Amino acid sequence: MAQQQTFARLPPSGIKVIIVGAGFAGLCAAIECDRKGHSVVLLEKVADLKPLGDIISFAANSGRIFERWEGVVEALEPIIHKSEGLNFHSWEGEFMTRQIWDPEAKYGRKINGHRAEIHEAVYLHAKARGIDIRLDQNVTDYFENDDHAGVVSNGETLTADCVVAAEGVKSKGRKIVLGYEDRPKASGYAVFRAWMKTDELAKSPSTKWFCHGDTHNGWMGEDKHFLVASIKNGTELSWVLTHKDDGDIDEDWSFPGQIDDVLKCIDSWDPVLKELVKATPPDRLHDYKLVFRDPLPTFISPKARIALIGDAAHPFLPTSIQGASQSMEDGVALAITLEKSGRDNVQQGIRAYEAVRYERVHRAQMTGVTTREQWHKADWTKIRADPKSLHLRREPWLLDFDQESHTYAVFDETVAKLKEKEKEDVAAAAPVAVEDAGSEKVTAAPRVMATELLGVSQA
Ligand SMILES: Cc1cc2nc3c(=O)[nH]c(=O)nc-3n(C[C@H](O)[C@H](O)[C@H](O)COP(=O)(O)OP(=O)(O)OC[C@H]3O[C@@H](n4cnc5c(N)ncnc54)[C@H](O)[C@@H]3O)c2cc1C
Repeated sequence: MAQQQTFARLPPSGIKVIIVGAGFAGLCAAIECDRKGHSVVLLEKVADLKPLGDIISFAANSGRIFERWEGVVEALEPIIHKSEGLNFHSWEGEFMTRQIWDPEAKYGRKINGHRAEIHEAVYLHAKARGIDIRLDQNVTDYFENDDHAGVVSNGETLTADCVVAAEGVKSKGRKIVLGYEDRPKASGYAVFRAWMKTDELAKSPSTKWFCHGDTHNGWMGEDKHFLVASIKNGTELSWVLTHKDDGDIDEDWSFPGQIDDVLKCIDSWDPVLKELVKATPPDRLHDYKLVFRDPLPTFISPKARIALIGDAAHPFLPTSIQGASQSMEDGVALAITLEKSGRDNVQQGIRAYEAVRYERVHRAQMTGVTTREQWHKADWTKIRADPKSLHLRREPWLLDFDQESHTYAVFDETVAKLKEKEKEDVAAAAPVAVEDAGSEKVTAAPRVMATELLGVSQA
């Protein structure tokens, strides 16, 4: 008989949290809140989780979060990508350099693999912990007052001490935080994405080398890059081609991909990539427009009972390789700031969450632009002189970081600063309130500009 797993959990805090969205942000927040003794209801729109998606990479900063969840790393071990490095090629196929992951092993565990398979392992862990996960729940509205916050889900009103909006880039929770509805923006880039079995590739002399164990290769060219990862001892393979795109993203941004469109995009590229694309089953190819949002002036609602986390707060470009990791860090920080604040101070906990996360998240977001420009705008004379300049910058401030110990370490100082700021704001607002009691609410400007995060110059 399978042994019953036990889970480490702090004593009940009495704090009730509603979390909307069971992506990596919502699931992580739910698990972390459960670890810290909060009571969680997790609402997810999708009725059943299907094994869709392709590769996703979690760096050491989130690897250590997975490690704290009993049994999850063990469940992931057989299905994750195990190559020791990434080979870089020019668009024409000339081998340039290999980046080895060994030097960053000291930062912690990396987890790369099929998005849906990793997600399922995390979901099963959340279920095993006994978290109240409700599928097929469409949240259509958020509200708050001084004492509680709530949502309307499938027409039913639910309330809690606070609500966490983790429903991704289309987040409805942004409206109550911003005070108006903002629309997602096209980033000017799109990604063709595919995941497939390698049986056919293994038969062809030009592509069979992809199937020998786990491999990782990238081809870099002007305004495009093509990444290929084989996994599960070379029996499955994922490829992604990031390219410029001016497609419309009115309501949807994921479409079935067309093999011919991909081939046109890589017309002058390494023939092996064309073989790979031609061998891709058409139903495994997706054309995914990269969506962006203006950076927010704040992640929290006016009464500090509702917090945005993950892509709802800060969508990431895939070239940062950090969107999901940062989403997970959000949940870790929030669970701790609530724990340390206690049920009588939930609003302080929500404010402290934002203060702990805001700068780091935006700094991490910027790396998406830096890496894309490093690859897409490369000066190939310089690269031939220094091929390692293609390597991903694996920066210790980002990767050698433990959100849990960091949040505990900075909590008191963060709260002290928030209280100081509150006093200053009250002092600054007092005379204005007397002279101009009817003045309109001034919306704060974002502390980071969208143009910086997209890497485009301001028109
Ligand atoms: C092509 C691509 C490649 C990427 N690669 C990487 C990578 O390698 N590494 C990395 O770290 N990041 C990567 N990212 C970014 C990463 O995928 C996201 O940052 C991360 O998944 C965000 O998670 P989330 O939980 O915030 O949002 P989502 O994953 O979007 O989850 C939101 C959830 O909320 C649910 N929901 C939505 N609306 C409602 C509603 N009204 N009511 C109830 N539920 C609702 C949705 O069904 C969904 O389950 C990549 C992104 C893209 C586009």
